[in-house]
Amino acid sequence: DGPRITPDIIDQLAVKSFPLCMRQLNDTLRTSHHLKHGGRLTYGLFLKAAGLSLEDALHFWRSHFLKNMDVDKFEKQYAYGIRFNYGKEGKRTDWSPYSCIKIIMGNIGPGDAHGCPFKHSDQAMLRQRLINFKVSQQAIGEIIELVGKGHYQIACQKYWEATHNAPLETGINHPNQYFEESHKFHN
Ligand code: SF4
Repeated sequence: DGPRITPDIIDQLAVKSFPLCMRQLNDTLRTSHHLKHGGRLTYGLFLKAAGLSLEDALHFWRSHFLKNMDVDKFEKQYAYGIRFNYGKEGKRTDWSPYSCIKIIMGNIGPGDAHGCPFKHSDQAMLRQRLINFKVSQQAIGEIIELVGKGHYQIACQKYWEATHNAPLETGINHPNQYFEESHKFHN
């Protein structure tokens, strides 16, 4: 059975099992209580595919956004987008979560948190973040070298291996696949 996640375990999962791109979105949401449009879309669809129900998604986003705004504004400006992600508004499409290629090739503007950190973060920042996350010096060196050669998804696989202290048989091509591999590993 696939994972089924609830708002109360998202922070814990973000540290343990989310790829760096989604951990970055969760960290930004926690610290600024907001995400720009691209981030809401990318993270919202990832969480949906990871097993977060619509009701829980509304609860989750509301709990963060209400630190910055009143309920009225949230309902008017943001609840629609969350229901939209779940195919409950507009064209009523069951939108798919973004693949690595789509995230890596995406345009990232100032203040956006939804890129692939291996591609879009500058190397000094990426290195500092990996140090903060207690990734070993050796793995950091390998990751930075892969990033320098443009091998972002292999760098991501290396990050998975370093944070799980185990080899990963397959490559990484989707943030939800990254998460599912981690979920399998931990359960
Ligand atoms: Fe996310 Fe894919 Fe980049 Fe890994 S390679 S951080 S899963 S976009």
